[in-house]
Amino acid sequence: MNFIDGQFVAPAEGRYLDKISPITGAKIYALPDSSEVDVVMAVKSAQSAFGEWAQTKVAERSAFLNKIADLIDAHADELAMAETQDVGKPLELAKSLDIARAALNFRFFASAILHKHEMATDMDGKALNYVLRQPVGVAGLIAPWNLPLYLLTWKIAPALACGNTVVCKPSEITSKSAFLLAGLMCTAGLPKGVCNMVFGKGEPAGSYLVRHPGVPLISFTGGTATGEKIQVQAAPYFKKLSLELGGKNATIVLKDVDFKKIVPQVARASFLNQGEICLCGSKILVQEDIYEEFCTELSQHVEALRVGDPLDKTNFMGPLVSQAHYDKVMSWLEVAKKEGGKILTGGARPSGLPEALKNGYFLRPTLIRDLTNCSEIHQTEIFGPVVTINSFKYPHEAVKWANNSPYGLAASLWTKNLNLAHKLAADLKVGTVWVNTWLQRDLRLPFGGMKASGIGREGGTHSLDFFTDTKTVCIQF
Ligand code: NDP
Repeated sequence: MNFIDGQFVAPAEGRYLDKISPITGAKIYALPDSSEVDVVMAVKSAQSAFGEWAQTKVAERSAFLNKIADLIDAHADELAMAETQDVGKPLELAKSLDIARAALNFRFFASAILHKHEMATDMDGKALNYVLRQPVGVAGLIAPWNLPLYLLTWKIAPALACGNTVVCKPSEITSKSAFLLAGLMCTAGLPKGVCNMVFGKGEPAGSYLVRHPGVPLISFTGGTATGEKIQVQAAPYFKKLSLELGGKNATIVLKDVDFKKIVPQVARASFLNQGEICLCGSKILVQEDIYEEFCTELSQHVEALRVGDPLDKTNFMGPLVSQAHYDKVMSWLEVAKKEGGKILTGGARPSGLPEALKNGYFLRPTLIRDLTNCSEIHQTEIFGPVVTINSFKYPHEAVKWANNSPYGLAASLWTKNLNLAHKLAADLKVGTVWVNTWLQRDLRLPFGGMKASGIGREGGTHSLDFFTDTKTVCIQF
């Protein structure tokens, strides 16, 4: 069911899609295959709700957001199970990462709007300027499947906090947690029409949301090719756009590290969530002095990672999200082999899976060496548990290699030499550089990518700026 105007409603044209479990390969539920008619209804509802919601006192909006966060916490088990069943991610990860962060997104922006303020400027006693920040209107929020609730709430929370109303289009392969969130919005007493969910495919539902003239702002997270289409579709309407797109992120390991200590962290950065995080380090570059030993240590560590039922706490990885994605990842493995890559570990389904999981989309974490810098794999986001490892002689070569990519999302650097780290961080053409850590996020800070990894920054005041229109008022004394 879609969630429009505070009600759960069937899709207008009565069409549904099958959701296939990545764990078993069997159908687990049906979801609306929404059409333009559903999007029109959702936008109409959001437009009607906008006037009143935009006028709501900041403290009241903040209280709503905190209430939703509390409800997410109270339903964390159910929401985490939805993510695991939809995505295939380990249940423990869904609880500790996805759901914890979804609640935090609401709490963070509930607090942020209470502290936001603007300054005034005095023009030599002759005039006074001040800035008004006003909600934009109906925000179209489009999210991907890898961190479904985490990324959707990263958009919903600041949009609502700033006084906008929203129409969300979650990924067709991971709709359940958004559906459950809609129920929690009802329980929280959020006025009808403030948050609407339209389920279904990118084409037509997502695409029509982008083209709807009544939606002045689009926040999109997903693949670069889709981002490109969205940019073109939104251009004639001059919409405000935020695009968080794909990545091909380097993990750079310098020879001074205690590499036995960092191997588990490099493995985590490569394969967490089955490697299906835009920030995963899929291109490991190791200084040649420690390269051979590092390869051996990392291969042994990865070999020991357990893959299987995501409900089993001992498993580090579950299945890939869908048959189509599994096939895509496997096809890149074939390319890697043709290009002369040597598979150090992985490259196949795990052995000994129970009968019930035999049709799931499982793949062992895969580490490939000996692919050259110009290999197609190094230019492509695979978005799965497939990672390359190569050596470099001097640190500036590693930066050159890392920057030799259409993407510019993130990188991680592992070294004890902080002076060098500052220099390399400045030279890397990416939106985020982690030094001796990975995926450590402070929600106050800007997040986003350079080059084909996106346009705009979200996070902290950047989100509050994006989800508001800025107006300068000048008063002559
Ligand atoms: P897609 O680009 O395929 O889809 C993202 C969302 O856009 C989905 O809801 C999809 O709908 C929808 N969509 C598809 N086509 C259109 C269209 N023409 N108009 C409007 N909406 C459309 O990405 P994936 O879901 O496959 O997600 C993986 C990608 O997301 C990777 O490239 C990853 O790097 C990136 N990503 C980036 C992040 C970042 O912060 N930079 C974070 C997380 C992921 P549907 O799927 O229902 O068809």
